Amino acid sequence: MYQIENHRHEGCTCDRCGRSMPVNSYEYQEHLCIDYHAGYESVFGDGNIVEGQFCQHCILACLGEWLRVREVPERAPKGAYQAHQRPPKRGISLLSKYDTDEGVGHTNNDNRTDFD
Ligand SMILES: [Zn+2]
Repeated sequence: MYQIENHRHEGCTCDRCGRSMPVNSYEYQEHLCIDYHAGYESVFGDGNIVEGQFCQHCILACLGEWLRVREVPERAPKGAYQAHQRPPKRGISLLSKYDTDEGVGHTNNDNRTDFD
């Protein structure tokens, strides 16, 4: 029988620098939480649990040199995924030959894929 416990989440603390990140703060929104089981031949040991919570400042200090940070293209609406919300098509993408206003993979009546 499982027992359900209520825990009030009030944020977290960076495991590297000790920065407090209250749950409703911008620091909390930007923190990185690592929590996984290491796999076979992992440097952390087979099957061990790897956990850590880090503030954005420590992520920048430790990984910034290798992170790929880029701006979201101006013409790409954030969070809009419906066909009528997408900007007009320009250029060629890997999915462009399958991507139509009716959705990805639209076919004609003669069962050919529309390559416009
Ligand atoms: Zn930190």
